[in-house]
Amino acid sequence: MSTIIDGKALSLSLKEQMKGRIADLEKQYGRKPCLAVIIVGDNPASRSYVRGKIKAAEFTGMDSRLIELPEYVKEFELLDVIAGLNADKAVDGILVQLPLPHHIDEDVVIDSIAKEKDVDGFHPMNVANLWLGRKCIVPCTPKGIIAMIESTGVEIKGKKAVVIGRSNIVGKPVAKLLLDRNATVTIAHSRTQDLAKVASEADILVAAVGRPKMVTADMIKPGAVVIDVGINRIMVPGPDGTEVSKLVGDVDFDAASEVAGYITPVPGGVGPMTITMLMENTIECFLNRQ
Ligand code: NAD
Repeated sequence: MSTIIDGKALSLSLKEQMKGRIADLEKQYGRKPCLAVIIVGDNPASRSYVRGKIKAAEFTGMDSRLIELPEYVKEFELLDVIAGLNADKAVDGILVQLPLPHHIDEDVVIDSIAKEKDVDGFHPMNVANLWLGRKCIVPCTPKGIIAMIESTGVEIKGKKAVVIGRSNIVGKPVAKLLLDRNATVTIAHSRTQDLAKVASEADILVAAVGRPKMVTADMIKPGAVVIDVGINRIMVPGPDGTEVSKLVGDVDFDAASEVAGYITPVPGGVGPMTITMLMENTIECFLNRQ
């Protein structure tokens, strides 16, 4: 039976520590770190993520601003809002919740955020600096994943790590962070042949695909650290016979936890840590700007 890496508890303890740090920063610098979050439209999942981010900012005591723009906002109007926040001395971090409506070019929007306020770490300069091994803002989900692996006490150095998924926001950056910690890293993806064999050799397995329960117990090396990034909503039979929706990860949790050494749950794993790392990045941007 594996040990559960409790992302919720780890997040809470980190956010508690941030409360004290933020109070100290206010005493020292006369203001608190400030995170600005922009949401365009009414996508329910995006709304819920944004609510979580603002709630976390309030919990830590930092300042936050929520900018809500209608679905039909024009790209240049959104760019104007970002330009205003870039120039605003009281704002340390700017996050534009993705995805954006189709008429807006996400790349143009990401490029327009001042790189020193890019708390998501998505700006091409931050991405380049990450791959060059230079100082940068590390994207929140990969940063949280590393913190969770490190919380187990399992050494990353020399281990075989397999990352399933090669997205710009999770798969690729987490692979680089594992490489930086001297793991031997394989990035698997939709065209990988014999994924089960590749995955089953991993001492550290990160699943970031978006396919419910695709990582089965036979794909896991006994004792491995398993990080489940996936967030998938599925329908399951409810108590009264009707179908109810349930959040599951990319890993078949019940079976996998019989084999893995450590495993993250969904919900309560990577999700809360992502938000907590966003708070950390906002503090980091604040300090860099002082
Ligand atoms: P994405 O769709 O951009 O990338 C998915 C990746 O999975 C692709 O690189 C693809 O090659 C790979 N893939 C697809 N089918 C595959 C298969 N059958 N076998 C092997 N690889 C396959 O997704 P993403 O943005 O990286 O997100 C992945 C999942 O993580 C989603 O469920 C998303 O909701 C979740 N997510 C969670 C958090 C969090 O904070 N918990 C943050 C970001 C993403």
